[in-house]
Amino acid sequence: MNLDLREFDAFPAEVSLDFEADSADFGIEGVSFRDLMSVRMTIQKVVEEYYCQGYVAVSVEEECSRCLEMFDSELSGDLTFIVKTDEGEAVMATDTRAEIVHVRSGEPVVEMNELIRQTLILSIPLKPLCSPECRGLCPSCGVNLNEETCTCKTEEIDDRWEGLSDLME
Ligand SMILES: [Zn+2]
Ligand SMILES: [Zn+2]
Repeated sequence: MNLDLREFDAFPAEVSLDFEADSADFGIEGVSFRDLMSVRMTIQKVVEEYYCQGYVAVSVEEECSRCLEMFDSELSGDLTFIVKTDEGEAVMATDTRAEIVHVRSGEPVVEMNELIRQTLILSIPLKPLCSPECRGLCPSCGVNLNEETCTCKTEEIDDRWEGLSDLME
């Protein structure tokens, strides 16, 4: 997705975008986007710099790391960056941690996908869970313990007894 800063006549400008997106296009694995991605931003222009502050959010399906079922979730995060044109003097970009995007002054177009990708990847949990109480899969028979119980007695499989059963054979 491209953000063409020439489209705005006055600043601060409000950006409100909802668009189709594919998780593959963003190189994000393990989730699939379920709905439109939304970007909300306020853009302020100071001399030749654009200060863009907002957030991005998208509904996703992701896989529970315990029970392996897909569940609905949302990825979202801050989308803040500063656009500098090659003619601009550093005004705001001197003491900030925001990402700085360089564009040519005659063509102030920001390729947003990489910025969005970085934000969304940071919001993916390391171990996604469908619920904090997810009971996961039985390690013996593999049933989803959220949905059914099984007769496996996993807690009784114990190395100490394995030695005994060898002796008894
Ligand atoms: Zn689960
Ligand atoms: Zn089982």
